[in-house]
Amino acid sequence: MRDDGGRGAEAADARVLGPVAHAVRRASEVAFRGARAIAGALVPPACLACRAPLADHGALCADCWRAITFIRPPVCDRLGIPLPFAAGEGPVLSAAAVADPPIFDRARAVATHDGAMRRLIHALKYADRQEGRRLFGRWLAGAGRDLLADADILVPVPLARWRLWRRRFNQSALLADALARETGLPMEPLALLRVRATRSQVGLTRAQRRKNVAGAFRVAPRRRHRIDGQAVLLVDDVITTGATAEACARALRRAGARRVDVLALALVTDLARSPF
Ligand SMILES: [Zn+2]
Repeated sequence: MRDDGGRGAEAADARVLGPVAHAVRRASEVAFRGARAIAGALVPPACLACRAPLADHGALCADCWRAITFIRPPVCDRLGIPLPFAAGEGPVLSAAAVADPPIFDRARAVATHDGAMRRLIHALKYADRQEGRRLFGRWLAGAGRDLLADADILVPVPLARWRLWRRRFNQSALLADALARETGLPMEPLALLRVRATRSQVGLTRAQRRKNVAGAFRVAPRRRHRIDGQAVLLVDDVITTGATAEACARALRRAGARRVDVLALALVTDLARSPF
């Protein structure tokens, strides 16, 4: 988000920082990006997931390609989980989606959260490895084709302020930005706010995760007009149990969103949730 969060973020920066401080910050960011581009050109191209030498930047080696489990139809129309068989025409629901329908309308993900995709996401989150953004944008556009056809606006899942400070950027905003560039859809990086600190979701059950993130998000009052009446596509890096996506979807619906779909790079195919 810090890198290039779009005009909305820039306008917000200008308001928060004041025009002079904003201009200084813009100039330093441009200089920083320029320096990084030069550094990037000097660093030999390597696989995004395993760092094996490659001919081009921003790509994967053949072994890592094979180690990604891309999610292909048939999938559950609500949860996006792979289904073992196609059942005729029209959308199909998994037993899990029927038993416990999610608050969002539909979720889709590029791949399951294992193998090289797990390494890619870890690198994106913790290693500031942004060279994959174009590839991720293309992947998201492919996996989210149906959702994108109905979407008015892209909204990333926000990161807690202290995490944003520690990691310097929000990986979901980076993905939403890559998708916005790929599709031309507008993105609103500041629509959702985290209004309450939440503990790490790692190791929590679905019920615990739901409780942990309940009420943690809110639509910023100033951005409400961007959400009201709109079909929102929420963008995240990983859908684990869907608890975060549901808490975000609830906040977006409260602000008047007429549809909330979710698109992620990876989906944890949770046996506790999946009927298979
Ligand atoms: Zn590799």
